[in-house]
Amino acid sequence: MKVICIGLNYSDHAREMGRALPAKPVVFLKPDSSLLKNNKPFFIPGFSQNIHYEIEIVLRICKLGRSIAEKYAYRYYDQLTLGVDMTARDLQSYLSSSGMPWDISKSFDGAAPVGEFIPVNEAGDVNNIAFRLEKNGETVQAGNTSGLIFNFDKIISYVSGFFTLKTGDLIFTGTPSGVGPVQRNDRLTGYIGDRKVIDFMVR
Ligand code: MG
Repeated sequence: MKVICIGLNYSDHAREMGRALPAKPVVFLKPDSSLLKNNKPFFIPGFSQNIHYEIEIVLRICKLGRSIAEKYAYRYYDQLTLGVDMTARDLQSYLSSSGMPWDISKSFDGAAPVGEFIPVNEAGDVNNIAFRLEKNGETVQAGNTSGLIFNFDKIISYVSGFFTLKTGDLIFTGTPSGVGPVQRNDRLTGYIGDRKVIDFMVR
């Protein structure tokens, strides 16, 4: 399986990163070795002094498809949850400013914690899903899918023009503003509406 991620997909986050709004979805991949499930602890890797959280709605693909039209895209995912796009911001900044691919800053082991999946129909209108991340009990990020630059249908249509989507593939759909650093013994808890779907420790 593969993990497809969309960057800069909320305008408030693009602004906080000092980036222009993308004209097309910004796409990158994480390998399956980056997945972290069942609320297992995230271990800060030795190569970074500045690991950031990015809370994101994650879609689970439920059937094979390629070059999917937007109007049919809703048929291709049946579950969603929250994931954290863990980012070694110092490494990413260094690699970007050197003109090099920054893949390793977001695709290292454990860089993709994902929560408990819920059926899409339990999440209500997919274009109006409220979600938030708490760090040690305080809300640090709050978003709503109404703020997506490219909504789920547009993302699925776009990425399926490049990659065949397969059952079990995941799509991280982008983070709202409020990204920030984690330290050892932080606790990260994510909610879709009032439903807790992810809760893990940083070690
Ligand atoms: Mg992200």
